[in-house]
Formats: sequence, structure tokens, C-alpha cells
Amino acid sequence: MYIVNYTSDDFKDICDRVDTVIIPVGSVEAHGHHLPLGTDIFSPRLFCKEINEKIGDRIWIAPEVPYGQSYDLSIYPGTVTVPSEVMADYLFHVCKSFYNNGLKNIVFLNGHGGNITALGLAAEKLVDLGAVVVTINWWLDFSKDILTVTEGQGHAGEDETSAVLYYNESLVQMEKATKNFNKQLYPVKFKDRGKTIFRDAITGDATLASREKGEKIFDLLEDRIINIINLMEKGKYFE
Ligand SMILES: [Zn+2]
Repeated sequence: MYIVNYTSDDFKDICDRVDTVIIPVGSVEAHGHHLPLGTDIFSPRLFCKEINEKIGDRIWIAPEVPYGQSYDLSIYPGTVTVPSEVMADYLFHVCKSFYNNGLKNIVFLNGHGGNITALGLAAEKLVDLGAVVVTINWWLDFSKDILTVTEGQGHAGEDETSAVLYYNESLVQMEKATKNFNKQLYPVKFKDRGKTIFRDAITGDATLASREKGEKIFDLLEDRIINIINLMEKGKYFE
């Protein structure tokens, strides 16, 4: 159920039997020469659509938070970046409102690696209130599953490009797809990180992407994500 489609009265009634809200989080960010700036918004949007079709009667889907922390790629035109502490504060207050409406399970469905620090900060404050928070960073969390479909992963690389091809082929300019195999040797931060490691705002090999691979990735991962939500709703966090 998409929250924005309901009235306040209906929302209140439904909250009597629903505990979980998904917050899709993305970024507006350069993704090579071939993918649109909204790439990190489109994947969570598509996951939400598919999750809504399967278990939408018992979870809320909140409107997406489109802007993220994109410090490294802010040198590329069209990228918007919000500092992690500002984003964390904003997310905390958005989710606190949902928590105060009785939604104790909060699922961040995150399409963008740069948001991870902000999501962690927000999660800790929400947990202090009494919420249970899961952050799903599927490109990382399900890397092993993804690599059964693609040869490699990367920012605007084979996996992400395949995902956007599946979301909407007409948004991808495959003739402009490139590759960049620069890899950082350790988790170092330095001034030209965006220009070098993320040269042309891409890592990996986008030329290997296909719509079929994107479809397979979504089929695999949507079940993984639903499984996490099911466990969370049962209060099962460890074994
Ligand atoms: Zn991305």
C-alpha cells in the first residue's frame, strides 16, 4: 500500500493492523554517460512495485527520498549531494513520524552506497525510540546472488545498467556504455577519488549489461527482500 494514496482516516485505521513501513532511498547522481541521473531511484521504485504486488496488503510503502550523499561524484553535472549528518537528521524525523503512528518496523530500501553512513546514524536514533530498523543495501548485501547473473558489479556497471534496462530500456543509451576497471586498494578517501576510481562516474563494465540480466536480478532479490521483511515482522532477528 502506497501511503500517499490513502486519506489520513484510512491510514489510521490500517495502522491498527500494520507495523511495517518501507522507505525507498536513492540519489540524484551521474551514472556514466549512458544511465540517467535517477538510476538509484528507479531500482528501489521497481522493488517496491514488486513487493507491493506480493505483500502490499500488510506493509506501507512511503514516498521515496530521492536525494542522497554523493560527495565523490559531485564533480559530475547533475549530481546532488546532501551531507550525511543532514540526511540522517532528515530521515530520522521522517521515520519518527511514522513510528509515532505505530509503525515500529522501518525498512530502508537503499539504492545508493553513499547513503549508508546517514542510514546508520538515523537507524541508531530510531532504535533509541523503540523502532526496529533494517537497511537493505542490495547491491552489497546480495552481491553473491547478483554475481550468479552478471560477471561483475559496479557503479553504473553491468548489474546496475541491467537493472535500469529492465526498469525502462528507453532511459539507457547503451551505445555510450563504457568500462572502468580502476579499483581502490583499500578504503581510502582522497580529493580526486571521483575523477579516478569513479572515472566518468562508472566502475565495472556496463557494455555487458542486458535487460534479461536485470530481470533475473530483480526476480532473485525481491524474494530475498521479502524474506527479510517476513523475519522482521515475526520479531526474528538472530539465531
Ligand atoms: Zn547507482
